[in-house]
Amino acid sequence: MLIEGGHQLLGLKRRHPIFVMPSAFELSEEEFRCVLKGHEYTHARDYSDGISLGDVVLNHENCGLVQTDTFKAILESRAYANAILMTLRGSGRDTFLPTLVILATYITLLMKTNPCSDFEKLVLDRVRHEAERDFNHIIGLIEGGYCC
Ligand SMILES: [Zn+2]
Repeated sequence: MLIEGGHQLLGLKRRHPIFVMPSAFELSEEEFRCVLKGHEYTHARDYSDGISLGDVVLNHENCGLVQTDTFKAILESRAYANAILMTLRGSGRDTFLPTLVILATYITLLMKTNPCSDFEKLVLDRVRHEAERDFNHIIGLIEGGYCC
């Protein structure tokens, strides 16, 4: 779960708390663990370290140059991709398909976004490359029989 104003903490190397929606407690214990270790851990790591995109690091100093919706889509696409990879490794299989649909939605949003600055264009280029790599990796694992 993202925090309002959390971008001001991005990349400060501080521990970041993990928050979950009340509905998370309706999941099975295995699914809940998968959400924490896959999705929420990715958010906590990104907030602590900043978002490393090859030669670009999105952090508290520069994330204001990126549109709010782009920033949210970047965070969520990375978290959902990591959650899916955890699912394919064996836990939380019941949430696989809905999570894949959500990931595809965020990737589509990132592909359609018109950058508002040269910096955002650079970030989107890196994110799109990363998203395409992750998505192809996920599809490769599915084709290899690691899921469903
Ligand atoms: Zn999230």
